[in-house]
Amino acid sequence: MKTIRRYLISKTHSPRNLAHQTGLTHPKKKSTFVRFLGIGTTIWASGHLSCAPAGEAGQPTSVLFTNALVLDGSGEAAFTADVAIEDNRITFVGDANEDAIAMRDTIALDGLLLTPGFIDMHSHVNLEEEYSRPATEFITQGITTAVIGVDGIGTPDLADLYEQFEAAGIGLNVLSYVGHGNIRQRVLGMDDRAPTEAELDEMRALTRKGMEEGAFGISSGLFYTPGYYAEATEVIELGKVAAEYDAIYDTHDRDLGGTYKGIGYLNSIREAIQIGSASSLRVIFSHFNAQGVANYGRAPEGAALIDSARTAGLEVTAAQHVYTSSMSSLRAYTIPRWAQAGGPEQMARRFQHPDTAQILNVQTMEMLEIRGGPAKIVFADPRPEFNGKTLAEVAEQRRLTVPETVRELIGDGNVWVMTRDLYEVDNTRYLATMPWMMTCTDGVSTMPTQDITHPRAYGGFPKKIRQFVNEDQAIDLSFAIRSMTGLAADFLRLPDRGYVREGMIADIAIIDPNRFTDRATYENPLRLSEGVIHLLVNGTFAIQDEVITDDRAGKVIRHNSP
Ligand SMILES: [Zn+2]
Repeated sequence: MKTIRRYLISKTHSPRNLAHQTGLTHPKKKSTFVRFLGIGTTIWASGHLSCAPAGEAGQPTSVLFTNALVLDGSGEAAFTADVAIEDNRITFVGDANEDAIAMRDTIALDGLLLTPGFIDMHSHVNLEEEYSRPATEFITQGITTAVIGVDGIGTPDLADLYEQFEAAGIGLNVLSYVGHGNIRQRVLGMDDRAPTEAELDEMRALTRKGMEEGAFGISSGLFYTPGYYAEATEVIELGKVAAEYDAIYDTHDRDLGGTYKGIGYLNSIREAIQIGSASSLRVIFSHFNAQGVANYGRAPEGAALIDSARTAGLEVTAAQHVYTSSMSSLRAYTIPRWAQAGGPEQMARRFQHPDTAQILNVQTMEMLEIRGGPAKIVFADPRPEFNGKTLAEVAEQRRLTVPETVRELIGDGNVWVMTRDLYEVDNTRYLATMPWMMTCTDGVSTMPTQDITHPRAYGGFPKKIRQFVNEDQAIDLSFAIRSMTGLAADFLRLPDRGYVREGMIADIAIIDPNRFTDRATYENPLRLSEGVIHLLVNGTFAIQDEVITDDRAGKVIRHNSP
């Protein structure tokens, strides 16, 4: 019996020197799924020639990738194999010569990495707008599935939304949570109060609607309004409804450390774990880190809380991006929640009141202090007069104080901003080594007139590999790929994604490990990542030979549906 060469990728073996690594042997797995596929074309020897054009229009995919260096999503060491795709499934992983596999097309990978397509556990890809439906900045990172409806914003009207996605075509797969904040706003508006029993029933019904229409669980954004106005007990009540569907509690928790008059970084983690535990939901902190200079060095304390919950038998996990900046709305960063209560009109009225304005003058500056001051707030708004400027600069331009500037800007609608240096690299690196840590972009689709945005939308996944695998050698490549694939699929209970295995759906990234890198920076954030040579979404080439095909092969993934 032949053997598959098997390579160890470790800290001392970056992808750059893979070719020099020692081959280990591994007994070849016999294909049990499909023996003979496609129609009799030449079977090319593994590791030799040739690139035939795959998937002509109208024909289902029938392609054999030969001599791939496979990281299968399990975290195991890489191995060399041939991988066949027929229609939308992986039909063979092994030695194609030995098993006489023939496909219509053969593409020799000659040691390129072949991995499962990446799963972005916290995404703000906007699939409701035509300009962003191809999701180009996400798929060029190797992402094939995005989790949306995070931060409490997911709509319970998922059937309508999904119908729209399916009619228009989307560039990647998508799945969603139903959002606590969305539901609360529908029932209570922006009121800062507890719901009545009747209102709570209405909220339960909306949660059920979202779950029935395919949500994977409930998300919350207790940092944001109106989520912040909710006690944990309210979220638990909705969580119990979601739990009837074997579901997830996804949270942007109340206080990542940068919350004004907040409950504190650790208490916030405790609260989220408690909500998950009391409602019988598995938990993900889908962008986990510690905010603010005061919490530099404190990631191990937060991670320890997750570890002890896991030791106690709870399924508690997290995801991360590896940037040091956050991005959200100017309002969330500069206006205390009491001043937002009741909605925009009441907020505007408070802004006009001289005594209230005086209090806000103080509190806005206190809030900014947590974030390092107004020079750390950078506009990432499509309006050209703000693009790339700091809050300090805009205030100076307008010849107003910072709090006055903030109130004037928010009065015209909300504004996208980043906080620079909110997260510490050491914290982030430490968290990357946790076995329960998945990966996300938290990226927002760029609007057509927008020059500045957070680079994470363009580079979140390759940056994690460039920085923590190649440069810092904090984690090995196989571990990093698992955090982007199999670990996420297991947590989401996706039975046929996240792994390179026979029978799985063919979401596949083929990557040149020597070239895989993010290119987007804070100064030039709209630069696509490099190094994804081919990308298959449900067996269709979304990227072929580094060219985006414009085939929108993404599918809606509904919870509990076949
Ligand atoms: Zn968030």
